Amino acid sequence: MPDAATRPAMLRVAGLNAWYGESHVLHGVDLEVRDGEVVTLLGRNGAGKTTTMKSVMGIVGRRSGSIAFEGQETISWPSNRIARAGIAFCPEERGIFSSLDVHENLMLPPEVKPGGLSLERIFALFPNLRERLRSQGTKLSGGEQQMLAIARILRTGARLLLLDEPTEGLAPVIIQQIGETIRSLKREGFTILLVEQNFRFAATVADRHYVMEHGRVVDMIENDRLEASMDKLHDYLGV
Ligand code: ATP
Repeated sequence: MPDAATRPAMLRVAGLNAWYGESHVLHGVDLEVRDGEVVTLLGRNGAGKTTTMKSVMGIVGRRSGSIAFEGQETISWPSNRIARAGIAFCPEERGIFSSLDVHENLMLPPEVKPGGLSLERIFALFPNLRERLRSQGTKLSGGEQQMLAIARILRTGARLLLLDEPTEGLAPVIIQQIGETIRSLKREGFTILLVEQNFRFAATVADRHYVMEHGRVVDMIENDRLEASMDKLHDYLGV
């Protein structure tokens, strides 16, 4: 595989603005995710990270600017067309159906493209889910729900995964497992954009990091520069 820097952009966001009703939330977001990369969006609460993901997915009220996926402009596309192009979103609230069991939750999203992972490959990535196949959504731990939420979008055939704070509220040992999963997904060839508050975790999975403030990307840090950028990061994130 060519070096990341020379790979084509799978997702290119330029001058992206977004609104919820009258509220103008994104003010010209610029970022790029190359084929096969894991890239994070870091930033304080309210910086616009989730809204950026929802904009890529076409599920915010109004957007302007450019969101190109595999070279095609998607800014005017409805969300179902964006999903069929091969982008999947795993929301922070996970969206597991509590009255359905693990298998039913897994089978729920439609296949949008050929090339999705089979259940066997999904269980190889998430052995717990096989053991819990007939457990209802309500019976799962937070970590199992998060694994299920990620597993569910792997069946669809999407190649760009938007993961919104997958580690939130989880114990350190589960966070480690999520990290291993993300590294495996990268090895499988998935491209991942990840919202994270926890930059120590982000450093273990990502190639690059974008920092957002007040609805804009204000910095980009290569992962191997993260350690050297700690002072700056503490300022950005207020931690
Ligand atoms: P967090 O980690 O808190 O989710 P974030 O960086 O993901 O932070 P967003 O959720 O994108 O931030 O929110 C950006 C801004 O948009 C915030 O000021 C937030 O209050 C506002 N906002 C988010 N969702 C809505 C909504 N549905 N309606 C109106 N305003 C919203």
